[in-house]
Amino acid sequence: MIKAQLREAATLIGKSHSLNAFTGAGISAESGIPPFRGEEGIWNKYDPKVLDINYFLDNPRKSWIIIHKLFYEMFSKAKPNPAHFVLAEWQQKSILKSLITQNIDQLHQIAGSTEITCFHGTSLELVCMECGKKFAVDEKLFEELPPLCSACNGILKPDFIFFGEGIPPKAYAEAIDAAKKTDVMLIIGTSGEVRPANQIPVLAKQNGATIIEVNRDPSHYTQSLSTMFFRGEAGKILPEINALITK
Ligand code: NAD
Repeated sequence: MIKAQLREAATLIGKSHSLNAFTGAGISAESGIPPFRGEEGIWNKYDPKVLDINYFLDNPRKSWIIIHKLFYEMFSKAKPNPAHFVLAEWQQKSILKSLITQNIDQLHQIAGSTEITCFHGTSLELVCMECGKKFAVDEKLFEELPPLCSACNGILKPDFIFFGEGIPPKAYAEAIDAAKKTDVMLIIGTSGEVRPANQIPVLAKQNGATIIEVNRDPSHYTQSLSTMFFRGEAGKILPEINALITK
């Protein structure tokens, strides 16, 4: 990595007044959580229909057996990596003003980030499909699959969005607001293929933001949007930039 470019990114970040980070599955890859797509992706091993809302409603037990294995057994073993910790540090130092994640794995929260817009919801709670009651995740809920609501016996679903569901309105409004306000947006570990999340950086750019991208491979944004592109692993690049910040 060219030191001058890292220094330039550190200067832009240090001088920004409304830095935003927009993260995707790639930021958690070094924590052992594979992305959905690509050679090592989850959908190479499992059928994505388990996260289709209509399939889930018709086959809750079949869906839940895979969902539990992927999003509760695998996620519970994962730990944040240096990229998550750098963002948490920047938030604590008020360098980072807003954090939008497409991820549902809770690693930003575990690393110490507090105010997070979870664009696709969270795996931390389950929601009843009948009465809407929410439950904090507890292994006891999974003793029988599918887990059922203690209030009405309805089927519980993870409180993240499935294929065929809309974005949680509060998260959507927060993300739009942050995209309009930000002067520097860091895009980390996202291919930019998932709609409508992929429109958030576009809106930021339209509103004049400088875009700094950190991705292992070139993305949807690299040619069209990014002012600077750092190709590589977020867990290495973010600490390198952090070391050069003087603020
Ligand atoms: P994606 O799978 O479409 O793209 C991942 C991106 O991360 C790619 O551009 C790749 O080059 C990059 N990448 C891979 N390893 C990296 C690393 N070590 N450092 C930096 N970049 C790296 O991911 P997406 O754009 O987030 O879209 C996938 C959807 O699936 C999202 O909605 C996301 O929420 C969801 N998902 C979430 C998780 C999770 O919560 N950890 C895991 C899988 C999928």
